[in-house]
This record gives sequence, structure tokens and C-alpha cells, in this order.
Amino acid sequence: MHYQPKSDLLNNRIILVTGASDGIGREAALTYARYGAEVILLGRNLERLQLTEKAINQLNKRPAHSVVFDLVQATPENCQHIAQQLALQFSHLDGVLHNAGILGEIVPLAELDPHVWQQVMKINVDATFYLTQALLPLLLKSDAGSLIFTTSSVGRTGRSGWGAYAVSKFATEGMMQVLADEYKNQHLRVNCINPGGTRTKMRASAFPEEDANKLKTPADLMPLYLYLMGDDSRRKTGMSFDAQPGRKPGAAE
Ligand code: NDP
Repeated sequence: MHYQPKSDLLNNRIILVTGASDGIGREAALTYARYGAEVILLGRNLERLQLTEKAINQLNKRPAHSVVFDLVQATPENCQHIAQQLALQFSHLDGVLHNAGILGEIVPLAELDPHVWQQVMKINVDATFYLTQALLPLLLKSDAGSLIFTTSSVGRTGRSGWGAYAVSKFATEGMMQVLADEYKNQHLRVNCINPGGTRTKMRASAFPEEDANKLKTPADLMPLYLYLMGDDSRRKTGMSFDAQPGRKPGAAE
């Protein structure tokens, strides 16, 4: 995407990013901070989260805040608790990037371990729903809130072997569409980003044989992540965007 954001695009914005300890989420959190946002980092690993927090604090912009939370443990109650704690510190949220996710196993559905299915659904779908429900009141206090979900090409067209992950991403697309329709007359836009094959830990586990140097890095995707979080996308809602338009799904060639 050819998008040149203004350097103060996210000044005074408060944005929560899930899965901010690694990969695309870490890069998005750093990028949002670089463009002026106060960023809340959510992740399950305190040490890794603190590394992101430290990198943000070294930018000498707004300091970051960490919320240590394992999404596999998410319930409606503990997500409400997180929202209540945030409400003590922040008057509102301008953006939430639901980025955390797991892949599960790449095997035919017939062989998929039901426990793996449950873990994938818990983290990629249930936790995303509980957290969204809990955070909506804070998001609706923004004059232009942006709620972004993370999808995948296998969340639009099913592919052999991609099992629970593909199904969870179809659910993510559905959640985005329902919410976008429900809030179309309010100051909240809801969209999906499909990163496309990107050089991260998750990608390496899905395609261990692939030459990672042929993949885009998380930093390469950031124009779209900025566009959808900033004011230039105010009128966009209910859409599923590709961070790498035209990229053919599957292994890098
Ligand atoms: P990574 O595996 O590199 O990072 C995932 C992030 O989510 C990490 O910060 C991880 O934390 C966090 N996370 C995972 N499980 C939990 C949990 N139970 N509780 C809290 N945090 C958790 O993945 P990517 O950066 O590659 O992927 C980011 C998103 O993009 C995902 O939704 C993925 O499905 C999607 N995507 C990625 C593509 C790619 O090619 N990379 C392509 C299409 C979609 P920790 O550091 O503790 O592991």
C-alpha cells in the first residue's frame, strides 16, 4: 500500500494491541507509538512484553503500558475485569488491534486433535469476542474509534490442512462484518487486515522449508496498519483489507 501518513497521525490516540510481544503485533505497537499514540500492550509473556515496552519507551514518545494476560484463559468475567482496570487509567480507547493468534496444527481436519481445535478457537475467536465485548464501551467513548481484526487468506477461502486456524479466521471475518453493521451509524469503524505471508515465528512454523528472506517483514505492512488506525480511514468500515494486495496465498516462490 502506498500511504504516507503524517508524522503526528496518532497523536493523543490511545490504542490497545494484542499479541504485542512478537511478530506483527510488536511492530504495530512500535509503529503506533512512533506516530504519537499511547499504546497498551497485551500479551501472555511478561519478559517479551517488557522488551516491546522498553523499545517503545526508548522512542521518547508516550510511554507504553503492559497488560499480561494469556488469552487461552479468557472468560467474559476476566475480560470485563481488564476493561474495568483500563477504565481507571484511560478515559477511552481510540483503537484496538486484535492481532494475537495461534496456528494450531496443519493436518487434515479428520486428523485434527480436538484439543488443538479448542485452543485455536479459544484464543483466535472466543477471547477476541470476550475482549471486544468488554472494550466496546471504552471504544465508543472515542470520537472516531477503530476496531481491527486480523484475518488470513484461509479465512476467505478454505484450504486443505489449515483446519481450525482457517475456520477461526472465517469466524473473525464474520465477527467484523456483524459488528461493522451494528455500529455503522456510530463513531466506530470495524475492519479486518489480512497481513499475507510475513516473516514471523508463526509463518516459519507453517512453512518451515520456505526461504524467509523472500517474505515481507512486519515493518513492510505498517502503512495499512497505520491507515486503518488513523483519521484517513474514518469512512471505511465492514471491509477486509490485504496488507499485500495481489500476493498469491501459499509458500513464497
Ligand atoms: P507470531 O506468532 O509471530 O506472534 C503472535 C503474537 O500473539 C505473539 O505476541 C504471541 O505471544 C501472541 N499470542 C499467541 N497466543 C497468545 C495467548 N494465548 N495470549 C496472549 N498472546 C498470545 O504471529 P504473527 O505476528 O505472524 O501473526 C499475527 C497475526 O497475523 C495472527 O493473528 C496471525 O493469524 C495473522 N497472520 C499472520 C500471517 C503471517 O504470515 N505471519 C499471515 C496471515 C495472518 P508470545 O510472544 O507469547 O508467543
